[in-house]
Amino acid sequence: MKRSAAFTLLFATLYCCFSYFAGAGEPPPAAGPATVYFSKEISPAKLKALYGKLDFKPSGKLGVKVHFGEKGNTNYIPPTLLKNLVKELKGTFVETNTLYGGSRGDTKSHLATAKAHGWTYAPIDILDADGEKSVAYKGKYFTRVVIGRNMDNYGSFLVISHFKGHSSAGFGGAIKNLAMGFGSPAGKKAQHSGQFPRIRGSKCVKCGLCRTECPVNAIDEAITVDEKKCTGCGKCAEICPYKAIESSQKATGGVAFQEKIAEYAKGVTDGRKLTYINFLMNISAACDCRSGAPKPFMGDVGILASADPVALDQASYDLVNKASGRDDTFEHESGISGIPCMAYAEKIGLGTRKYKLVELK
Ligand code: SF4
Ligand code: SF4
Repeated sequence: MKRSAAFTLLFATLYCCFSYFAGAGEPPPAAGPATVYFSKEISPAKLKALYGKLDFKPSGKLGVKVHFGEKGNTNYIPPTLLKNLVKELKGTFVETNTLYGGSRGDTKSHLATAKAHGWTYAPIDILDADGEKSVAYKGKYFTRVVIGRNMDNYGSFLVISHFKGHSSAGFGGAIKNLAMGFGSPAGKKAQHSGQFPRIRGSKCVKCGLCRTECPVNAIDEAITVDEKKCTGCGKCAEICPYKAIESSQKATGGVAFQEKIAEYAKGVTDGRKLTYINFLMNISAACDCRSGAPKPFMGDVGILASADPVALDQASYDLVNKASGRDDTFEHESGISGIPCMAYAEKIGLGTRKYKLVELK
């Protein structure tokens, strides 16, 4: 090898090493596209076929991460759709308690809600039932992520997400299910920190609905928000029929909140074995944490599966846009585009937004 070529190679190697360590915890995203499998048909048979395509080999105990649905909500994935696959895999449903109380705010009521909603055919493990633990993470927002302690009892996870809108994040899919779904209440609080709603006095008719919806009684009779009590959950902004409440996420385009979600998802997955499935059905502007059942704004699209959560969410996002005929359906429906979350998730190495869609007929 000529001296100049050898020098170039040495320089390139040193540069790569320096770049990697300079952004420790932020390896570059994968170069090539990830494969995303897709079926228009939503059925147990197609779910099984999609899972088979992933060629996922669980090691140790398998946790199946789902959302049981808040009491009164009917948009969550119907448990019967997952029954054959979860039983065959001998999976355990895993979840974490919510930050804001409600019907899933403690282990006892969470288990009762799951049972009432039909999640009865596999064991359920509320991952923070025995406490929380911190995991080191080096990011722009966090130096640690806080998860349910029981997470360490599992060798692998199948993350099954209902893809739909979200008033603060724009959308909820695999990335959000990882971040909020595995984050313990303290972890959820960290992600929501600093996000307070703003009441627009000119639009508010003092109907009081937001006070009823607020799970921590942070809104008083004068309809002002007590920031000491507020957890930033965004439920009041979602419920106000007069659009008189603006979440701070909306004011900033949701970027900081979405980036926090992406960092948590990265911190939760680092060093763990996971694979992902999204259900694009009952797609409403609000998430399954809402106690009501927000009406879907479009028809069902299908099921998608991938080993890459970012590619999976991006493909899901694009298919929703294609089906609705809009450039950014969730920005239209919830007022916040979900693109910054996926872009930042890609930047910090959670996955890639480039994908190859393979449809199963
Ligand atoms: S729900 Fe909206 S209109 Fe009603 S009190 Fe709250 S902010 Fe005002
Ligand atoms: S965001 Fe709204 S509903 Fe949620 S805790 Fe704060 S005031 Fe209550």
